[in-house]
Amino acid sequence: MNQKRNVFFVLAAWMIGFGIVIGLVFPFFAWALGVSSTIALSPMFFIACVAAGILVGVVNILLAKFTVGEKLKLFTTKMDHAKENILSISRGGDIGDCSIETCHIPVESDDQFGNCGIAFNELIEAFAAVLKTQDAIRSYTEILSSQLELEVLAENALEVLMKHGDASAGTILLVDGERYQPIASHGIEDTESFQTNQILHQVVKNKRYEMITYPKDLVVRSVLMDYQPRQVLLVPIVYKDKVLGIIVLATAETFSSELMKEIDIFAHSLALSLNNSLEHEELQRIAERDPLTDFYNRRAGLKIYREEYQRARQMDAPFSALMIDIDYFKRVNDTYGHLIGDGVLKQVTKIAREVLRESDILIRYGGEEFFLALPNTDALAAEQIAERIRMRIAEQVMLVNGTSIQVSVSIGCGTLESLKLQSESEFIQMIDDALYQAKEAGRNRVVTA
Ligand code: GH3
Ligand code: MG
Ligand code: MG
Repeated sequence: MNQKRNVFFVLAAWMIGFGIVIGLVFPFFAWALGVSSTIALSPMFFIACVAAGILVGVVNILLAKFTVGEKLKLFTTKMDHAKENILSISRGGDIGDCSIETCHIPVESDDQFGNCGIAFNELIEAFAAVLKTQDAIRSYTEILSSQLELEVLAENALEVLMKHGDASAGTILLVDGERYQPIASHGIEDTESFQTNQILHQVVKNKRYEMITYPKDLVVRSVLMDYQPRQVLLVPIVYKDKVLGIIVLATAETFSSELMKEIDIFAHSLALSLNNSLEHEELQRIAERDPLTDFYNRRAGLKIYREEYQRARQMDAPFSALMIDIDYFKRVNDTYGHLIGDGVLKQVTKIAREVLRESDILIRYGGEEFFLALPNTDALAAEQIAERIRMRIAEQVMLVNGTSIQVSVSIGCGTLESLKLQSESEFIQMIDDALYQAKEAGRNRVVTA
């Protein structure tokens, strides 16, 4: 059986044993040095010497217990404290209680104890760094897996990356063809300078991170002042060999060597989630769009229209809408066939899109009928827009599969403030009525409700 032995007990046995041996040997030394044999070799002298040997042994062991034992006790307490912290973190707690004061061993001597303390403190620091990374990766993957909305995902990911990398500013750029589109940004307002940045192009090309020291054209905006960062880290977000985006982190100091080793793990996780999010957006877009014209389909478009309508009512903002119907379109189909009819539909919607703004909601309402909701547009502007669309279409000679075709449209136009209606469906109905009047009045015209 392997019994645990008490080191101090063994030490005591050795020290006392050694004391006894010295006690037994010392009388012979005394005799050899000239002390008379009757004194040196007397039982009393032997007892006195052995007693002195035992006393020195006991005092030694007490001193060892007091000095070394206390040190070891301190080590044990600190290790116990560190252990409790590590266990608490592994159970999902935080590292807050393990500070330099509570977990570190004070290094007071330049000997093995001092070295042992230094080694222990370094061990704790290495543990803390590993746990910090593990914690960051855990919350990071949690965030990444719980979000599909592109902007929210990017914002949350950037927050963790900046915190973990001790960055004072950062941005996540989406690579959109030749352009870099910021989808999340903190402290870097002028993202235009990225568009022409050669190192950024290099990162996309080589698919490897780059570090810029004192970039000339990048200014970080902090609460107190604007400053030039000392280091800027550019990390590509690569999915299946394609660069989806770039993580940009800036600091006024220097990034840690640990961050450089870990950043690829962060970028890789982000790549997976970013790709999911982009695919989700694309699927959503496809589900909302009419494939022929790329206008919103009726279901998705009317949902957005209703939201905009309510917003306009609540904010008392101007809100207009147009209903467009192609004149005698059946004839186009009958004369040239449906395929060419489809080509005409495409060109008509293309012209309407060119006249309208990004914020307008373009809906394919029926076969060749389009409902266009124009937020923040008053009656006069809406009428001008309607007239411009009508005119551009009427004047355009369309070339579809080698066939020249000219069509016209009739447009019903209405503005919320002038109609003073209650429901969004009544609003559509009034504009539809105006369209009907335009048809009745001879087509190729705009009628305002
Ligand atoms: P009006 O001037 O009164 O509007 O006459 P119209 O012939 O245009 O009549 P209407 O607005 O009722 O148009 C219906 C026609 O639109 C029927 C159909 O041939 C055509 N149409 C509807 N959807 C499509 C489509 O997706 N592609 C093609 N090619 N034609 C379509
Ligand atoms: Mg028609
Ligand atoms: Mg129609």
